[in-house]
Amino acid sequence: MKFIWTVSVLSWASTGRAVELEVGTCCARLHQELGTKISFLGQPAYNATENSYWSLQEAGLKPGCILRPSVPQDVSRAVSIIAAIDGCNFAIKGQGHAPAAGFANIDGGVTIDMTGLNTTSLSPDRSVLSVGAGASWLQVYQYLDPFNVSVAGGRNGLVGVGGLTLGGGISHFSPRVGWACDNVVNFEVQVSFHWQFHGINADSKKVVLADGTLTNVNETWRSDLYRALKGGANNFGVVTRFDLGTLSQGNLSVSSFVNDISQRRPVLQAFTDIVSSPNFDVYASLVVGFLYNSSSKAWVISNSAVYTRPVLHPPVFAELAAVPSISNSSRIMSLVSLANEAPTPPLNWLFATATFQPSAEFMLEIFDILNSTLYSFNPQGGLVWDIAFEPLPSGMLSHATKTGGNVLGVQPEEGNSYIMLLSALWPDSASNLVVEKVSQQALFTIESRAKAKGLLRKFQYLNYAAWYQTPLASYGADNFEFLKRVSSKYDPFALFQNRVPGGFKLAKEGQL
Ligand SMILES: Cc1cc2nc3c(=O)[nH]c(=O)nc-3n(C[C@H](O)[C@H](O)[C@H](O)COP(=O)(O)OP(=O)(O)OC[C@H]3O[C@@H](n4cnc5c(N)ncnc54)[C@H](O)[C@@H]3O)c2cc1C
Repeated sequence: MKFIWTVSVLSWASTGRAVELEVGTCCARLHQELGTKISFLGQPAYNATENSYWSLQEAGLKPGCILRPSVPQDVSRAVSIIAAIDGCNFAIKGQGHAPAAGFANIDGGVTIDMTGLNTTSLSPDRSVLSVGAGASWLQVYQYLDPFNVSVAGGRNGLVGVGGLTLGGGISHFSPRVGWACDNVVNFEVQVSFHWQFHGINADSKKVVLADGTLTNVNETWRSDLYRALKGGANNFGVVTRFDLGTLSQGNLSVSSFVNDISQRRPVLQAFTDIVSSPNFDVYASLVVGFLYNSSSKAWVISNSAVYTRPVLHPPVFAELAAVPSISNSSRIMSLVSLANEAPTPPLNWLFATATFQPSAEFMLEIFDILNSTLYSFNPQGGLVWDIAFEPLPSGMLSHATKTGGNVLGVQPEEGNSYIMLLSALWPDSASNLVVEKVSQQALFTIESRAKAKGLLRKFQYLNYAAWYQTPLASYGADNFEFLKRVSSKYDPFALFQNRVPGGFKLAKEGQL
């Protein structure tokens, strides 16, 4: 009976109805196993997850059901059930801050919303924080604050530990301790490698896998997977816990400067002087950005200058602070207060990125390209462009070696660079395609000019990349080949390539 059912379903495999049936079967099985941890359209838990995405593009997708695990073993049980049912695809969601559609949500599949896995515990000597993979950085900082220690994590507290760390992670503390991922001492992860061989399904001739188990990976145990997870995103498994090395930390100094766009030359010169300094101040955390409102056709410069010691007006920012400003403020505050940003209203969002060698002249050219590409574009309901520049000092990159390396492929020998995050936010979903097209055009022009001048670095920061970019390939051929080998070893049936379609995939960026 089962045989006939399977064959008839497989014969429709190319139709949406077949997929619908598989997902129905999958969700029913998950519900049987995991009870109320599985929710369906219209139920409060389902709506809570759907309403928690940062972008409208993600919130607009409708999974067949949503799993909200409360213990890591729920993830294992779910993944083994899902894996055994053809056509049942799934998405892994942390705090849902990746903007592109389908990165952490899925139409008609199963979304695993990890946010219930958010426990925090500090080792007795306060050197290692263990945190559930679904936690937000604010939850982490609130927990750590009384202990006067912190970890390298997101600057906005609403962002998730999971996505940020698996993609690299730029923290206020990065110049001092490296990428967030460089500070992971152990991952607890659900991979397919551990599944026990259970038998061959007589009908589909596919391997049926029994219950998955969780494994820890670190510098001495499965060190290849440990390194791959430091930049390899969701290509290898579902991470259920991160153990993060801590650093001593008290209050910080936080300055904001807003400048008229006519001040762009001195602002960009100050930024470039800070970025290109061979003695980059490791306490400096700087973001300089152009903001453009398509309705008012107004550009403005917005700078966030954080110093991770309680020193008001630190010398490193003196040149920037001296530029005439429309407004400026400087305060000493805790990381908890700084990271506790208000959520933005539901909007469409887009990220895209590139990395450059420092040059104030070229940054001025970037502005000219942006202005000529974006100036007259004004979709229904308006749109805001936010083009941010962030230092990538070589000293920050040298920390990778302390925990066995990462796969990001940016080397200290390349010298200091800076990352551009081109983002856009707009209310009207009907404009999505055209906004994407305009952003691509601006990015393409900027990259081509930078390349011609020898200022373009190959690195595309995964957490800032647009869906049409190839950040994994940007890590370089050696790292990419390494990632493919690790994938074949720990995920021999390519579950995390084929059945987790969202995010940047090795299989899409190159043949596995
Ligand atoms: C407002 C805002 C502020 C930001 N600030 C910073 C910043 O300071 N520094 C920085 O480096 N980046 C920053 N980012 C970028 C951020 O790192 C990425 O958007 C990141 O993907 C968000 O992680 P998340 O868990 O919230 O997102 P999600 O959308 O939930 O997940 C992102 C990706 O990671 C995967 N993933 C998540 N959790 C797991 C897991 N446990 N196991 C396997 N895969 C998983 C998902 O499948 C998805 O593909 C910011 C983004 C926003 C929107």
